[in-house]
Amino acid sequence: MKREWDLLHTPGPTPIPPSVERSMNQPMIGHRGGKAKELIHAIAPKLKPVFGTSGEVLVVTGSGTSSLEASVVNTTKPGDKVVVVVAGAFGERFAQICETYELDVIRIEVPWGKAVEGSQVEETLREHPDTKAVFLTHCETSTGVMHPVEKVAETVKNKSSALVIVDGVSSIGGAEVKMDQSGIDILVSGSQKAMMLPAGLAFLAVSERAWSVIDENPRPRFYLDLRKYRQQLEGGQTPFTPALSLLFGLQQVLELLEEEGLDRVFERHQTMKEMTRSACRALNLPLLVSDEDASSTVTSIRPETFEAEQLRKVANEEFGLILAGGQKHMKGEIFRIGHMGYSRPANVLQYIGILEIVLKRLGHEFEPGAGVAAAQTAYLERTREE
Ligand SMILES: *Cc1c(COP(=O)(O)O)cnc(C)c1O
Repeated sequence: MKREWDLLHTPGPTPIPPSVERSMNQPMIGHRGGKAKELIHAIAPKLKPVFGTSGEVLVVTGSGTSSLEASVVNTTKPGDKVVVVVAGAFGERFAQICETYELDVIRIEVPWGKAVEGSQVEETLREHPDTKAVFLTHCETSTGVMHPVEKVAETVKNKSSALVIVDGVSSIGGAEVKMDQSGIDILVSGSQKAMMLPAGLAFLAVSERAWSVIDENPRPRFYLDLRKYRQQLEGGQTPFTPALSLLFGLQQVLELLEEEGLDRVFERHQTMKEMTRSACRALNLPLLVSDEDASSTVTSIRPETFEAEQLRKVANEEFGLILAGGQKHMKGEIFRIGHMGYSRPANVLQYIGILEIVLKRLGHEFEPGAGVAAAQTAYLERTREE
């Protein structure tokens, strides 16, 4: 049978719910008319709880990286000192954006696969009291580490007046971030990870404190000038033509999240993480990240008895199961399973069952069925708790 769709378990892009696909298929509307206003006004309040904020969440047309770049250009000017936690490919990207915009970048290098500690940030701020902003990645997608950004934000708040800027591209919609409560100033995300949409929307939630910095920042900027987006949002508009089809889809995504309940959405991701990790243990697959630091949206495995790339190839060719490889120096070292967005425990049972066959093909040793059984047990344990 011709393969019409992939079993997509990469940490972005992710599968799109059918009702969201249907929503995106609506006939086009005028972006300055009443319908667009209605759409934008319907979306705005529902985005807030997803970001853990009572402030407005701005929507920019662009991939996730545009939200990272927007957070940099709007809050800083050349020569400003900033601290960037670099614990993987996306922390590195934040640092590169900051360097591109001529900031004085102090990097906190964390080994790939480990989480940053509050004390590291505290120490760095003590050495660099003139730091204007601290950049963090919530889920470091390249390793599958979920950094304790709320804790770090609280530490930064206690020790300095630096802004706390968080990349939540691969966590928002799948994991909770209490933005307002923890004092995060800017929380950014993108559409094609846990937000269950195609790539093309970038999100920025901005605190009042950050707005005062943005309003006074003399750096020139045009497309990514967040002041334009804030001003236009009041009237249900965007400064430039919005990606209306994606907004139709977003409206439906927000319906789905609301219907399930955000707490349950986050629980579901935790369940998928625990099922996946239990199965990996039972299959003698070494996990890159400790239980404490592991992300609920993506799991990294560092195999020792076979090539990660070979596993990905067989899984794809034989079953249409698409997994991600490693990035940068971890290329060929690890493979990564995305379990975020439109993904459920049923999908975990499916990919673990497939993985067992692929592992057999690769000559990896384990007790047949052990992975699926472990995932089932993890599922039963978690659902008993409720
Ligand atoms: C995917 C991702 C990005 C970049 O998103 P693009 O849409 O590819 O620009 C940034 N940060 C994190 C943590 C990501 O997972």
